[in-house]
Amino acid sequence: MSNRTINFYAGPAGLPLPALERAKDELLDFAGTGMSVMEISHRSKEYDAVHEEALALTRELMGIPANYKVLLLQGGAHLSFGMIPLNLLRAGRKADYIVTGNWAEKAYKEAKLVGGDDVRLGGSTKDLKFARLPKTSELTIHKDSSFVHFTSNNTVEGTQWQDYPETGGIPYVCDMSSDIMWRPFDVTPFGLIYAGAQKNLGPSGVTLTIIREDFLEQCQAQDLPSYLRFKLHAEKNSLYNTPPCFGIYILRNVLAYNKSIGGLKVIEANNRKKGELLYGCLDRFPGFYKPFVTEKADRSFMNIDFFLPSEELTDTFVKEAKKAGMVGLKGYRDIGGIRVSAYNAVTVDNVKTLVAFMEAFVKKNG
Ligand SMILES: *Cc1c(COP(=O)(O)O)cnc(C)c1O
Repeated sequence: MSNRTINFYAGPAGLPLPALERAKDELLDFAGTGMSVMEISHRSKEYDAVHEEALALTRELMGIPANYKVLLLQGGAHLSFGMIPLNLLRAGRKADYIVTGNWAEKAYKEAKLVGGDDVRLGGSTKDLKFARLPKTSELTIHKDSSFVHFTSNNTVEGTQWQDYPETGGIPYVCDMSSDIMWRPFDVTPFGLIYAGAQKNLGPSGVTLTIIREDFLEQCQAQDLPSYLRFKLHAEKNSLYNTPPCFGIYILRNVLAYNKSIGGLKVIEANNRKKGELLYGCLDRFPGFYKPFVTEKADRSFMNIDFFLPSEELTDTFVKEAKKAGMVGLKGYRDIGGIRVSAYNAVTVDNVKTLVAFMEAFVKKNG
């Protein structure tokens, strides 16, 4: 399909074309029901097969061990910001939060509302406008913390933890909304992982949550409203109430496609290639394109922020890119400049098209 727009939006973001085409083919008659998947019971065997497949593919693609539960929830990362302290900071438990960007700060502030002084700042680069991640020596991890919260990819600023922070063995709780499944990684140091689906996995409305059994056991929050209890969702296999069936169906399509192309190893290789192409271009024209992130080692493979010599040129860049079939390049309002979001569904060819445009733009305007 040649009339598909090349989509660099930060979120909701583009989805793999084959996952959408499958949805199109199955829309009016899902699994021989003569109805769409949106129109049938979440207790039907046809929906159940989708639900189970989405869970199983998540486990398989990420190599999730048996002592973790995979949950499909709602409320986005925002509801998780609150559910995590409500469930996990009971009984005098404490946590450290590493604040590395706009979203990490939100998670910290929401946790503070619940946990007060039991929620501590484990490190922050706010005084540097979050233009790099903290070094290990800049972290303050307390030995009595039950977990350390961090944000694996800082969507607004364009930094990404290539090696996860050093916590002396204290388990991680991690917001992976903008880079989940960008590469294979070892899940075992994580007590809980959560991710709104709308960047790397599917449409908005689904929050993938992966929780280790010992963390689940800590969630003895019987006095919380039912929906807020991780344990209840785990016991009910994410079917306590009506799940976001259509979102989960699209998630299933995306994951099945990811598996068909070779899984996370292949996806990682594509993402690394995309990063090399984009950062290679920025580094070739340092007098024209100025990266926002100051440490090369902290550069994100998902969100790439940079500035042009003037606001006028930035506007021209966005307008001309749109004419060339590429959208979503305007930087986040607090930072300005350009942000390229190159999530899993963005192809190497898409990035080659953008890089060719960027090179031509320098020649014309540099
Ligand atoms: C987009 C994003 C969020 C916000 O997610 P919602 O689903 O809108 O709540 C939170 N954290 C990170 C890292 C994000 O990229």
